[in-house]
Amino acid sequence: MILPPATLGMLGGGQLGRFFVLAAHELGYKVWVLDPDTNSPAGKAADRHLCAAYEDFAALDQLAQNCAAITTEFENVPADTLDYLAKFLPVRPSADAVGICQNRVAEKMFLRNNDIPHAAFIAVNKADDLRNAPDELFPGILKVARFGYDGKGQARVTSREEALHALQGFHNEPCVLEQMLTLDYEISVVLARDEHGNTKSFAPSENAHAKGILDVSISPSRFTAETAQQLAERIAEQLGYIGTLAVEFFVSRGELYVNEMAPRPHNSGHYTVDACATSQYEQQVRALTGLPLGDARAHSAAVMVNLLGDIWYDPTQPGPDSHGHYREPDWGKLLTYPNLKLHLYGKHHARPGRKMGHFTVIDADPAKAHEVAMAARAAIG
Ligand code: ADP
Ligand code: MG
Repeated sequence: MILPPATLGMLGGGQLGRFFVLAAHELGYKVWVLDPDTNSPAGKAADRHLCAAYEDFAALDQLAQNCAAITTEFENVPADTLDYLAKFLPVRPSADAVGICQNRVAEKMFLRNNDIPHAAFIAVNKADDLRNAPDELFPGILKVARFGYDGKGQARVTSREEALHALQGFHNEPCVLEQMLTLDYEISVVLARDEHGNTKSFAPSENAHAKGILDVSISPSRFTAETAQQLAERIAEQLGYIGTLAVEFFVSRGELYVNEMAPRPHNSGHYTVDACATSQYEQQVRALTGLPLGDARAHSAAVMVNLLGDIWYDPTQPGPDSHGHYREPDWGKLLTYPNLKLHLYGKHHARPGRKMGHFTVIDADPAKAHEVAMAARAAIG
């Protein structure tokens, strides 16, 4: 067991890393963050911010020398970085697990090989793969294998011709072509798994997206928790996963299909900070340090609303003011609700679509939490 005040290393400096830093600090650990952005939200909160590239071996050596264990908040950390660090200290999750989750081809093959329900797909390496694709994949979605997020690197295609055209648009990068499912709704399960194989799943959340970005997340979800949690736990076990893992699902005609995995805490698990005995971030600390996992039960229903940079814009103004600034939203409108927990990430510049913060409304009554969350969202714009 790695005990406080040991220093933990975090690869990635976004808001997920920032919440990890806060959870680790509460327990008395120190955290060093590696991120190339001088203004990274986690870097600002960390004991030390190594402002360097993920492939900067001098920076990796510094992490290895000063930290007791390493984790990540970002699935696109190069596998070589994780492999290199793993020569010196525990790296959780492993490079192998992250490697599967960061590549859609590897991810879908993993689901297929482990008999986990998923939408029909093929790997696309060249135009001929699309010409030979089975008819059942149309209409479908062409997705680039690497670096897609928030709906980026995806094209909805109704025909082979459209798919070929979209592939060109992606510069013939490796892709997957996936069958388009009719969605009832989408859910996710966040879980933590420790080095002994014990798992604790949080209650699933039901996720609504706007323009490809998570908008509102409601927990508990309508879907039977156990069924989704069992599938997520099977995935974690097959990955030999240690840490916090998120699994996104489609619910289509009442059936569950795994969409994708994230080898890190997840936006839809923010609610665990305010509504659960242990947050997804504390679980990440616990799994990393070899502490027993905490109680994952929710004490309240929760509705989380993402706050994107768009609300920094004055809707009556076409752009920034003459100083190039956007107005700060009137947080007083949110902070008047006693059951609303506001989280701002301290990002320097608001941009449309950029995740700047979120709030979570908790209540014993799910309907009441939803009502307050929607009223609060309307109030802030
Ligand atoms: P991202 O990495 O951008 O989150 P996803 O694969 O999760 O990529 O796709 C983004 C969204 O697009 C999903 O949350 C879902 O709403 C929709 N989508 C993706 N794949 C499918 C599919 N096969 N059928 C129906 N909708 C899909
Ligand atoms: Mg997704």
